[in-house]
Amino acid sequence: MSYVLNEKIRELTPYTPLSGTFRIRMDANESYRSLPESILSEIQRALPRLDFNRYPDPFCKALCNAFASYYGIDPKFVTAGNGSDELLALLASAFLMKGDTLLTVAPDFSMYRFYASISEVNCVVLEKEQDLSISVDVMIQKARETGAKMLLFSNPCNPTSLGASREEMRRLIRSVDGLVVLDEAYMDFWDQSLLSEVEQYDNLMILRTSSKAIGCAAIRLGFAVANEKLSNALRAVKSPYNVNSFTQTAGTILFEHREELEQARQEIICQRESLYLELKRVQEEFPGKYQIWKPRANFVFVKPQSGRIAQQIYHYLLQNQVAIRHMGDYLRITAGSPEEIREFIELWRKWFRTEEEKS
Ligand SMILES: *Cc1c(COP(=O)(O)O)cnc(C)c1O
Repeated sequence: MSYVLNEKIRELTPYTPLSGTFRIRMDANESYRSLPESILSEIQRALPRLDFNRYPDPFCKALCNAFASYYGIDPKFVTAGNGSDELLALLASAFLMKGDTLLTVAPDFSMYRFYASISEVNCVVLEKEQDLSISVDVMIQKARETGAKMLLFSNPCNPTSLGASREEMRRLIRSVDGLVVLDEAYMDFWDQSLLSEVEQYDNLMILRTSSKAIGCAAIRLGFAVANEKLSNALRAVKSPYNVNSFTQTAGTILFEHREELEQARQEIICQRESLYLELKRVQEEFPGKYQIWKPRANFVFVKPQSGRIAQQIYHYLLQNQVAIRHMGDYLRITAGSPEEIREFIELWRKWFRTEEEKS
């Protein structure tokens, strides 16, 4: 006898991020900063007081209050998850029925399609315009045409680092029947959030995460923000103890440290700008060698002349202990510390100089 895996999972392999140790990690869009001492010591003091024998608070009350207070919204609109990844999986499995249509865009976060396929959802992928922007009109038309029950994409977008304005998003949300799930994982780096408007829509859910600007990818903590009806539905379908007590405790402390978070956020934005300007400078030195877009998130998207060249640059950097992300024709480079950016740019410039000398 032999057990046969079903079709939808038979060909799957585990997600494997880049492994190995690299001196400089600019590949995963994490924060390059470690947590400030003030936050660390408070977490340290709180840990022994956890009720280790008890289940965690299923509604993460203190945590959601701290998150809501940090962003100036009402905690009744907030649900916490084990990373926004858990919330994405839940939305695909519970807010859609088998065979329903999910509309997403490309390039965008690859996990959207993955969770859709696990949930046996019909996934329609809209290719972005030549300039990598999203055309809201085309999206509205596509949503109507396909009868999409859910629209899911990131804003600002991973991997392009481009953003769609609040006004465009409002128009989209009002023009479609499906649930618009707006993944604002990188919105701390930009200023077009719709967080404070969720109550005005019956079809908007916003996802946020502590993995990027908040600098805490390790604790796996994400949030969904939506009106009460949607929030209650989400709470009803999640597993009761989805966020463990360590994470609830650390997360609550994090969001209570407004000043430190704000300082980190500003610093990362400065580093992102510095990385972008340095890349622009090298681009001027080597005209036509790559395309680059003004970034809104904490990373920069670059398109060398071909996919082959993108791959060569990627491997050259890896050999020099610098990890970035290679995605087909593109490279995605996360903002690092001043020192990391200096080293990265030195290698980057050296690569183009060497190529020029070869030809
Ligand atoms: C990093 C990222 C997330 C965050 O996922 P977590 O599970 O909260 O770490 C969500 N969406 C996008 C587009 C991301 O890039």
